[in-house]
Order: sequence, then C-alpha cells, then structure tokens
Amino acid sequence: MSSAPADLSALLTRLDAAAARGPQAGLPPDVIRREGGEHALHVVFGCIIHGDEVGSLPAAAALLEDMDAGRLHFGGRLSVVLGNRPAALAGVRFVEQDLNRVFLPGPARSAEHRRALELMPLLDDADVFLDLHQTIEPTRSAFAIFPWDPVGETWVRALDAAPAWVTRPPGLAFSAGSRCGDEHVRVRGAPGITVELSQKGLRPEAEALAGRLMRRTLEIADALARGEATLEALAAGQPLPTCLAPAHVVPFDDPALCLRPGLENLAPVQAGELLSAPSSPPVRSPCDGALLFPKYPPRGADGRALGPLPAELVRILAPLPGRPAALWG
Ligand SMILES: [Zn+2]
Repeated sequence: MSSAPADLSALLTRLDAAAARGPQAGLPPDVIRREGGEHALHVVFGCIIHGDEVGSLPAAAALLEDMDAGRLHFGGRLSVVLGNRPAALAGVRFVEQDLNRVFLPGPARSAEHRRALELMPLLDDADVFLDLHQTIEPTRSAFAIFPWDPVGETWVRALDAAPAWVTRPPGLAFSAGSRCGDEHVRVRGAPGITVELSQKGLRPEAEALAGRLMRRTLEIADALARGEATLEALAAGQPLPTCLAPAHVVPFDDPALCLRPGLENLAPVQAGELLSAPSSPPVRSPCDGALLFPKYPPRGADGRALGPLPAELVRILAPLPGRPAALWG
C-alpha cells in the first residue's frame, strides 16, 4: 500500500480521521457519517466508485473538516462513501470487476460485487445520491450523465450541475445485465445524479466543482426538509444544461481498431469525419455530434490492442432536438 502517491495517502489519512470523529456503528467500512439530528433527509455522496477517479476526495475531506470545525452545518444525515479504496491505492479503475456495474443481487462474484452488496442497504436509504466521477481521457467540460426523468432534471438545474448532460430516455440501462450505483437509487424513485467532474486525477477544477456540488446539495436538502423551498422553486430560472444523447456506438470488435490521438470527451465531430489512426481500419462518424468515452488501450508492437477489449471504441452523442421533457415526458 506504500506505493500510493503521497497526495492520495494524505487525503485518505484526512478522510480516515474524519471517519473516526463520526459514528461508525453498523456502517460498512469507508463510509463516513454525520448526523445533523434536525431532519431525516439522507444525502449520500459517492467518491472513488472507480478507484482511479480520485478528484472528489479533496472536496470530501474539506467538507467534513468544515462541518467538524463548525464552519458548515447540515441538519440531516450525511454519508460519504469511498467506493473502492483498494483500486484507488493501486491506481486502477477496479481490482476484479467494475464496481459501478455490479449493484446486483448476490451471491458475491468478486471483491467489487461484495463491496456493492455492502453498500446497497445504504443506497436503499438515500434520499439523494450524488456520485462524483471523472473521465479517462480529457473532457471539454464537466458533464452530468444519467437518464432523464423530471426529478433528475430538477436536481440538475437546482444544482447548476454542469454545462452538459449526457442523457437518454428513462428506463434504458447503460449496459444490459449490469447496474450502476445511481441506477440502484433511481429504481426506488429517489434521485441518483452522476457528474463527471474532469479528466481523472487530483485537479483543481475537479476539487472546485465537487466542493460546490456537495455544499449545494446539502443546502438544497436542508431547505427542502425545513419546508423553506420546493425543488421546483430552487430550479426555477436555472439553465438546463446542453442535453446530448447517445446516437451511435462504435463497437471495439477488432484489436486493430485504433482511434487517432487526442480525441476528447464532448469534442464536436462531423458526419464522415475520420476518427481512426492511419494504421487502423477506417472509422468515420456517421453523424454530426460529440464524442464520448474514446478508448486508448495499451497496444503491442504490432499495434493491436492488448488484453480484453472494452466493448466500445467510442460513442457519438447527438444534441437532443428539443427539451427532454417534451421528447420523453
Ligand atoms: Zn467513473
């Protein structure tokens, strides 16, 4: 464990100290709890659900330290979940299985599935779940990413969550046979909001956005619980992000496929634009839109991708032709 970078170790030390200052009985490991004692709303923040997406940790540590020093007050129940510490320490997305695909019934099939089973009762009790992620490749801006529903939209606007929202009609899983943490919350009818803060790593822009979103979520929850405002009133006048929906998936079905260097999340693309490197079978965008989750796996000397291939080489998003409520409401 001594191989973790010093800044990550220092953050985990601060978060462990915060956990030790709070109640621990009955909680799974790596869940930091605060009880405001004034109302029953339970806010859950997800950090490092993917181990190498550590960018929300500085904001989580600062939030808890501000609460404990009396600089910040929240009247409800707060749980900060550190999803996958073993993967974070190893600097990888996951150890055995992607935690954010296995919020599924047992018996446990992997270390991450065991962790999901530990966390699911907590998520079952969440009144709002804010899951903070980061992208692998650079991104043109932060973006929310989860299916549209009226409550989710109202939260996104009340939070002013991000300039863009990668969304889709309600009820479509990101991938079949798997379930994300935010989906686990949404199927109960509670808001599960995922935001990609920045490219992965400890970055000032990720810390700033994570801190703002966490603090705003607590303010909103306090206002709702005290009857001071409705979520609709808090969202009124706040902009809807630019909404983008998946329009096309390029399957990664040949290890010779290789994207040209430098493709970024949310970068605009035009119909017919060549997305592949010269050595690769040609890949062209079938439509105007924007890129999502371009994959650059390690490659052998022959240029072929190594190891199990990701299912998708890249996705193409298209702007929604109208407001999601008008299309899907
Ligand atoms: Zn992630």
